[in-house]
Amino acid sequence: MQDPFGRSVSYLRVSVTDRCDFRCVYCMAEDMTFLPKAEVLSLEELERLCSVFIAKGVRKLRLTGGEPLVRRNVTSLFHNLGRHLGHGLDELTLTTNGSQLAKYAGDLYAAGVRRINVSLDTLDPAKFTAITRWGRLDQVLEGLAAAKAAGLAVKINAVALKGVNDDEFDRLVSWCGESGFDLVFIEVMPMGEVGAGARLDQYLPLSLVRAALDRRWTLEPSEYRTGGPARYFTVRETGRRLGFITPLTHNFCESCNRVRLTCTGTLYMCLGQEDAADLRAPLRASSDDALVSDAIDAAIARKPKGHDFIIDRRREAGPPRFMSTTGG
Ligand code: SAM
Ligand code: SF4
Repeated sequence: MQDPFGRSVSYLRVSVTDRCDFRCVYCMAEDMTFLPKAEVLSLEELERLCSVFIAKGVRKLRLTGGEPLVRRNVTSLFHNLGRHLGHGLDELTLTTNGSQLAKYAGDLYAAGVRRINVSLDTLDPAKFTAITRWGRLDQVLEGLAAAKAAGLAVKINAVALKGVNDDEFDRLVSWCGESGFDLVFIEVMPMGEVGAGARLDQYLPLSLVRAALDRRWTLEPSEYRTGGPARYFTVRETGRRLGFITPLTHNFCESCNRVRLTCTGTLYMCLGQEDAADLRAPLRASSDDALVSDAIDAAIARKPKGHDFIIDRRREAGPPRFMSTTGG
């Protein structure tokens, strides 16, 4: 699949549920209203949609959410999608908050998952609970140990939050080095209303994080690319990769290779734009995949050039939906 700007779309992210067992302050409001179950695609429908995308050239699938591992029977979806590995699909992976990994790490490996992203912004138990509102750090650390024991490679995603975890960046780098995990820092993005002024308070440009890290670590530019927005370095002292995702300070849209599907079958062609295509109606209208395939083609033909996120002293601007809708 090629978009109007000549970018090839080979990566699909699927938010399998909008629900979550955490309420991270930058991601969700405390009193979130979730979708009624009737609106959400069944696991079979999600699998069918993913299979159509794979037949059309998607080579990498990432399940996300909400928290993908709180969706009932989600491991059956992983197992069924895992059958495409080596037959069109190169990689099946997920982004998770880690809370359920102790239970599912073995299943995920058995389904063909080899690398996972785990979101973790702090190693301080009290701060962890403050950021996630409902989470417990020890549960996530147990999950990470289980993932490692199951043979899953782990990349930690940490959102840089001013006044919250900005005293911990060195510690995160050294802990990831000791644990054998890669690490990616992410700038907070303006998605969904989480409370007046909250994001302006949280936003920390990664240029500042980078400058702080440079005082302690030797960051060697790395050729490593995932086709995604992260720029990677190798930390000489630990030998691990360190990435920076900078949607605000550095626009990365020119190499975008992905589209995002929500659990209701809505396809977003850009994380930062509102235009979307409904795939649920064509999926349900016919047991033949031709209708949905045509709807995907029409959507890819409208993939926008890039996002228009803004956070500055006066305002923040981004789409009204929460990150948990499209899955980050
Ligand atoms: N629940 C899973 C998790 O937390 O990893 C998967 C979904 S979560 C929405 C995916 C990623 O988006 C997480 O790494 C989270 O930290 C990040 N995220 C959520 N809201 C964000 C925001 N407003 N700006 C930047 N990153 C955000
Ligand atoms: Fe849940 Fe992930 Fe959002 Fe946190 S970032 S509230 S874990 S979906």
